[in-house]
Amino acid sequence: MVFQVYDSLRKEKRPFEPLQPGVVRMYNCGPTVYGRAHIGNLRTFLFADTLRRWLECSGFEVRQVMNITDVGHLLDDADEGEDKIEAQARREKRDPFEISRGFTRLFVEDMQALGCREPAVRPKASEHIPEMLEIIEGLIARGYAYEVNGDVYFEVAKFPRYGRLSGNTVAELEAGARIEVREEKRHPADFALWKSDPKHLMKWSSRFGPDGFPGWHIECSAMARKHLGDVFDIHTGGEDNVFPHHECEIAQSEALLGDGSFARYWMHSKFLQVDGGKMSKRLGNVWNLDDVKARGFTPRELRFALIRGHYRGPLNFTWGILEEARSALIKLDELKQRVEDALKGQGAAREDRAGAEAITAAREKFDAGMNDDLNVPQALAALFEMRSAILEAGIGQKAAREAQALLDRAHLALGVLDSVLNTEDRADKPRVDALMADYGAARARKDWATSDRIRGELKAMGYAVKDTPQGSRATFTGRELAGG
Ligand SMILES: [Zn+2]
Repeated sequence: MVFQVYDSLRKEKRPFEPLQPGVVRMYNCGPTVYGRAHIGNLRTFLFADTLRRWLECSGFEVRQVMNITDVGHLLDDADEGEDKIEAQARREKRDPFEISRGFTRLFVEDMQALGCREPAVRPKASEHIPEMLEIIEGLIARGYAYEVNGDVYFEVAKFPRYGRLSGNTVAELEAGARIEVREEKRHPADFALWKSDPKHLMKWSSRFGPDGFPGWHIECSAMARKHLGDVFDIHTGGEDNVFPHHECEIAQSEALLGDGSFARYWMHSKFLQVDGGKMSKRLGNVWNLDDVKARGFTPRELRFALIRGHYRGPLNFTWGILEEARSALIKLDELKQRVEDALKGQGAAREDRAGAEAITAAREKFDAGMNDDLNVPQALAALFEMRSAILEAGIGQKAAREAQALLDRAHLALGVLDSVLNTEDRADKPRVDALMADYGAARARKDWATSDRIRGELKAMGYAVKDTPQGSRATFTGRELAGG
């Protein structure tokens, strides 16, 4: 089965084939570190992580690069306005590099909490200034860029393919241009590769002057080239990156390196809506991972909620979808437990042909879904169908091995069936074991007051206690479960 991906440059699904057999080079536009990543950003990064995971499940070795934009991302797309990080630094009266370092650390922590794989490199824009200047010099030498008073602009009229990704052609941009345009630009759509501003706090000396800093777009062209080469396989981002950011990256890189260079497949995830509309500071709904945890939800539940829909489909975030994620995960955990029990011979049913066939069908449906441009909803449906079949017909030990293999594969691909629930691996296991021994003893002597107290203590530690005919079991759920 071939992995089909929707290429937003060619606007069609096409089979994915890396340049070098077996190895995928992938660039993900990363965060601008002037604030905490919000759930909309997280959806985009979780899409990148799911893509990487599925490529790995498909047998590819993935070299993943996710950049950190720590300079040059201005508040306004038209090369105007303050640097986002410097604006935050002024508000907090702190050093901009300190701001970006702090938010970079938080970003990495959030990614880890959400179960994202570590990229091979997290390059920082501020550490790639020479590579950016090299591209800028090359573009000037080839006649694609010009310098005016210490600023360097890319001349869009010289690059006929401009607009191929976003549909924003040079002619249309001309017609829609605002009246107030920086007069030093030859065309209103020309964009800055390098800017000079003595007031800018993060600045570098170059032949264009002592107070220079890069444009946001050139950063990604330079970091992708440095870490992945002149041609690489996949470039991802959110749909809000399509224009101007990615359109400009393509123009710069292809103007320098030629048609057919740079990214071979472009993939974009759809923007997240919140409560049916745009996320905004004014509405107070720019949630981050801490807000989600403060409401009693786990990073795992957030991950599930943000990846369970198709990455190109609309997703409306509400607290309700986290409740749904929780119920769905409880069902998947029950399935996992049922399969594990059957593997140990506990409650295993007689081998049943229909059951085994249901598992094979689920495996095929799961893979077909993921191979169809990461159709996670179909892949999850396959797991739930397997669950129904197993609950209905029971499961024998042999079939349980098959089911376990699919669950392991699903975890590798989606990162949500993790054994964060596996009580066995947790550091507080000795304490939990001791409490469970007391709990069992209290129940045996019908001391309900004590058993209830212990149950409450475990609940506070994030464990749910379940009493079954085979005995009582504490399962880690990561939070206090309502109603135990
Ligand atoms: Zn970028």
